[in-house]
Amino acid sequence: MKELIGLSKEELEAEVINLGEKPFRAKQIWQWIYFQGVKSFEEMTNLSKDLRQKLANSFTITRPKVITEQISKDKTHKRLLEFTDGERVEMVYIPEEDRGAVCLSTQVGCAMGCKFCHTGSQKLTRNLTAAEIVGQFMVARDAYHEWPSPTHETRYLSNIVVMGMGEPLQNLENVAKALNILTAGDGIAISRRRITMSTSGIAPQIVPALKATGVRLAVSLHAPNNELRSQIMPINKRYPIEKVLEACKSYQSDDGSRYITFEYLMLKDFNDTPECAKELIALMKKYSLRALFNLIPFNPWPGCSFEPSLPEKVKAFSQMLEKAGFAAPIRVARGQDILAACGQLKSKTTLPKSS
Ligand code: SF4
Repeated sequence: MKELIGLSKEELEAEVINLGEKPFRAKQIWQWIYFQGVKSFEEMTNLSKDLRQKLANSFTITRPKVITEQISKDKTHKRLLEFTDGERVEMVYIPEEDRGAVCLSTQVGCAMGCKFCHTGSQKLTRNLTAAEIVGQFMVARDAYHEWPSPTHETRYLSNIVVMGMGEPLQNLENVAKALNILTAGDGIAISRRRITMSTSGIAPQIVPALKATGVRLAVSLHAPNNELRSQIMPINKRYPIEKVLEACKSYQSDDGSRYITFEYLMLKDFNDTPECAKELIALMKKYSLRALFNLIPFNPWPGCSFEPSLPEKVKAFSQMLEKAGFAAPIRVARGQDILAACGQLKSKTTLPKSS
């Protein structure tokens, strides 16, 4: 049986033609899956019974299975999802007042090994397929009853952040394919400008990734120099800050309107000093980057050796950046009590796997 979710429009059309059907049937199937959100061929009522049976004989439309759900005090919702081979990832829904973001994972575990990240302590098992990435969002849509795809702007699931488990640029082909499905106007239809993809800094992939997806870029910077950054992000030895910022620069020279978000985790007595802020400002000016910062209070997890910066230090850091002309909001930590916050996701639990 072949999975239909995750196929591009062209691939879906080729499958339909293979079944001896007219190409326009592919369009109808696409809309049933991604606009109506149906879970079975039986529900595709504008297809003949015969075609529905043929589809059911050869194909599946599968969502990841929800294994556990946790809701934090601030209503952040974390779900542990399982794929058909038993591998698992976490998917988080972060509600705002009138909308919300779904945080998608792109790999089972992560090879980057960032020292502050809970996911990074879980070794990379495998890349997720496009179907598995899209499927996470479809599970969220099911949960919030947002089928058919809302055409108005007041939807619960308005934004996507590709910031869950994994380094998306190490799985670019599948991530780009998934994002193209998630943004297709006749289906799930999330606008590309409402999607942010975050990288730890795989410099050579930055420009190709943005060309392939057209979404917004966030870079996990977390330090103003190579000495500090290499201590917390091993990838920095391979692609030091200069290489990452040069790639950011060429991304911006292609499209002057794009701002880049630099994620900066505030770690006590490590990267939160006024000297660090000064260095960071100098760095941005050197590369003339149109940048904004997201200052992230650190979310401790069991066994990590870092502590969160004191709130007054975070505030002072933010003020220095703002004074230099860079927006630098302090992000409110969400879902901290259920380990759903940034860098806290992990799917290898002690729970038994479902059969
Ligand atoms: S921060 Fe991102 S890239 Fe780094 S280990 Fe965690 S999931 Fe991987």
